[in-house]
Amino acid sequence: MEVRLLIGAALEVGAGANERVLNPRTGAVIAEVAEASREQVDRAVAAACGAFDEWARTSPAQRAAALLKLADLIEMEAEVYADLEALNCGKPRHLVLNDELPAIVDCFRFFAGAARTLQGPLAGEYLPGFTSMIRRDAIGVVGSVAPWNYPLMMAAWKLAPALAAGNTIVLKPSEQTPLTALKLAAQMSEVFPSGVVNVVTGRGDSVGQHLITHPGIAMISLTGDVGTGRKVLAAAQAQIKRTHLELGGKAPVIVFDDADLDAVVSGLRSFGYYNAGQDCTAACRVYAGQKIYDRLVADLSNAVSRIAYGAARDEDNEIGPLISARQRERVSGFVERARELRHIEITTGGNQATGAGFYYQPTVVAGAQQTDEIVRREIFGPVVSVTRFVDEAEAIAWANESDYGLASSVWTRDIRRGMKAAAQLRYGCTWVNCHFMLVNEMPHGGLKHSGYGKDLSICALEDYSVARHVMVNLN
Ligand code: NAD
Repeated sequence: MEVRLLIGAALEVGAGANERVLNPRTGAVIAEVAEASREQVDRAVAAACGAFDEWARTSPAQRAAALLKLADLIEMEAEVYADLEALNCGKPRHLVLNDELPAIVDCFRFFAGAARTLQGPLAGEYLPGFTSMIRRDAIGVVGSVAPWNYPLMMAAWKLAPALAAGNTIVLKPSEQTPLTALKLAAQMSEVFPSGVVNVVTGRGDSVGQHLITHPGIAMISLTGDVGTGRKVLAAAQAQIKRTHLELGGKAPVIVFDDADLDAVVSGLRSFGYYNAGQDCTAACRVYAGQKIYDRLVADLSNAVSRIAYGAARDEDNEIGPLISARQRERVSGFVERARELRHIEITTGGNQATGAGFYYQPTVVAGAQQTDEIVRREIFGPVVSVTRFVDEAEAIAWANESDYGLASSVWTRDIRRGMKAAAQLRYGCTWVNCHFMLVNEMPHGGLKHSGYGKDLSICALEDYSVARHVMVNLN
């Protein structure tokens, strides 16, 4: 198991405090990973600064070749990555291998291609005798900070567009889930010139804070909590850094009376509970029409009560535990407070699972009202609330009445109604008759407290580069 950081060309053990990395299925310690010292973070940033000029001047074809090589290396070791991610996050290994790894490999391949196809407006004479053109250039050193819910995928989403655009990087994975990023660091040291990519581990308030406030960092990219986003903004405002923030979510799911009930139940069962609900796009806040509400609650509760977890055979599991005891306490707290409300009915689940590990029962909270905490706050666990609405206007208004603005979905057999709702929803993404599906070609990112800046797609390449005006005097 790789526990070394990547600083410049060297893989070296962290010189800071030891961090215990746990197996969420059992609570047992998997490894101790020493976090980076301040001096190591400083050297990582210095290495990235030193590598920038040369990397930014490489041709898109050269950067694409490196990204393609990395994609091949990850693909060749997909089984090992799946082992590590399943061990560190508690995810079913078969899902990591079959869902996450192909998307991660494809992310690097997509940005390898995209690096060579950036487009811009034509050059022209906007003042007589002077030709203007727009260049898209790299920004500098990007400090990237990743969360624990999809550790390798979030690393890929940050690394691929930033490197494709010609930036250099210092990446910090979550202190809870560093293992796949450290393996990736070792592979990246074989692919990229010294200093182009650096990986440092450690806690947010020590290593993370030092990284984001470092004067050598030109841009901070964070996927994490809204509170952490505020800290990034505070650090950025002091030094006028660029920021790219992917924060939380609380995705509304509007189910109209004419929706295909079986499709809705199957969709919610999958996409409300995937990754044990630890997903910022999770289909967790359902609004159901008057006529479909009762059948939806009954069928959904029945379907959710059969979600498989905790089985000895990996293939038999659909979800894993929560990431930590702390996260499970947090989820429990939300459900217990909801249970105290007289209008709430917990129709399935509602408790911590017995036995080892940080498991929580897949839960449906029916009868929830718009003002309830369970409807308004991000839970980040296997908990879906269902709220009854009277008409379309109420459904759209309630869906939009949220601090978050990342993802949403609408379920109806009437495509006009679906399109109309999609136009009115103030979310970075709206799915019609599906949820959760992401593709590398399309942007992913939020509005409001969910942050700004896009991951994936050509939009991410634009976010990680800067438009510059060059004017030539022809006289
Ligand atoms: P978190 O904010 O606690 O941690 C995220 C990362 O930030 C970690 O690496 C952590 O060490 C670091 N960090 C914490 N404090 C820091 C500081 N002061 N300075 C620098 N770095 C600091 O979030 P988490 O608990 O790891 O992840 C869950 C959150 O992430 C949820 O709110 C979830 O919605 C969000 N998330 C969003 C998306 C998205 O695409 N919008 C994707 C995944 C997760």
